Amino acid sequence: MPPIDQARIDHLSRLMDERWTREFREIRSLLGTLEDERRRAAFAPHAAGASDEALLALLADIDDPLIQQNLQDVRDIAGARRRIGDGSYGLCLACGDDIAYERLLAYPTAKRCIECQRAHERRKAAPGAAPGN
Ligand SMILES: [Zn+2]
Repeated sequence: MPPIDQARIDHLSRLMDERWTREFREIRSLLGTLEDERRRAAFAPHAAGASDEALLALLADIDDPLIQQNLQDVRDIAGARRRIGDGSYGLCLACGDDIAYERLLAYPTAKRCIECQRAHERRKAAPGAAPGN
């Protein structure tokens, strides 16, 4: 039995498409408000005409933290689309179990089940840095 049925994948895929569109709208509007005149001149003219994918490549190294955050989100969506394509979407990359549909509804780009995500975040936290330890 497949871990997640096609109707659910289609639904999550639509959610991600909408998010993708929102993120790029925001990226384009952020490019128009860059405070650094030179960077604005370098990037803003591309904002209107470029395809989303071209813009994503163009902005790979931009040092604006807000834009980087948006770019990270669209990269996560691109990764999820790849996993949908190769059939691994909805499977935890750490333990291989199904990721709960409720979790995917909240985080369609989730790569790990909730248990593995928590363990992952605990490992990422510096030892001794957790409050109360
Ligand atoms: Zn897992």
